[in-house]
Amino acid sequence: MRHVNVGDIEVVSLLDGTEAYSAAAVYVDAGDALAQYADLLDTQGRVTLPFSSFLLRGDGLTVLVDTGNGPEAQGRLLDELRQAGTGVGDIDVVVFTHLHGDHTGWNIDRASGAAQFPNARYLVPRGDWDHYRAADPPSRSFTRDVAVLEGLGVLELIDDGHVISPSLATLLTPGHTPGHMTIVVSSGDSEALVLGDAFLTGLDVAEPDWVTTWDWSAPEVRRTRRLLLDRLEATDALIAASHLPAPGLGRFAVAGGRRVFQPLP
Ligand SMILES: [Zn+2]
Repeated sequence: MRHVNVGDIEVVSLLDGTEAYSAAAVYVDAGDALAQYADLLDTQGRVTLPFSSFLLRGDGLTVLVDTGNGPEAQGRLLDELRQAGTGVGDIDVVVFTHLHGDHTGWNIDRASGAAQFPNARYLVPRGDWDHYRAADPPSRSFTRDVAVLEGLGVLELIDDGHVISPSLATLLTPGHTPGHMTIVVSSGDSEALVLGDAFLTGLDVAEPDWVTTWDWSAPEVRRTRRLLLDRLEATDALIAASHLPAPGLGRFAVAGGRRVFQPLP
């Protein structure tokens, strides 16, 4: 857990869990080029992905961005929230960067079938809702954690440029999924971009043209990453990213001749 202030908005990173994946299986087209990034992999050639959510507090609201992998993965998100001084009833808004199952896992209380965050509106990117609802069959996580939000009366579909509060708005950043959103935090002269999975690991930070097995569209991923890098180079915006090294808060920099993610200490 790490707290940082962006103007008047408090950003808190919450770690639901961590898992390691074979880099060769995730970056199937990288081939021998992976060898030059051995420092980003473990001794078995795996890349480690934290599963981070972010709490945004300010403008009179408590906003949770993404809800992690969930109880089946022994996730710790609810404990992390408690340690941040926030109960499930304190969340006013849940907003999703996208609808993959590792971002929606704590949506629903498994025992009761009710919304895990009983006082929250759940803001769902329309592009992802349309895409994953049309899948035949829909994924298990979509059916269990997302589709049911409609019947519970807490679902709100959102588009590009949706204003959550005076300091918080969405930016459509498609590629990882069709409706993938970045949450833009702007307060005073400060800005943060909650990037979701636009950049997944240090490998695609260094090589923005590389795509992962989880990305929906290679051309859209590359276009979105270029637009985000241009924007980040023009500002000193803080980055919050779901799977970049914990606490998932930091900035891009150039070191050793390549772009790297530098986490906040
Ligand atoms: Zn993810």
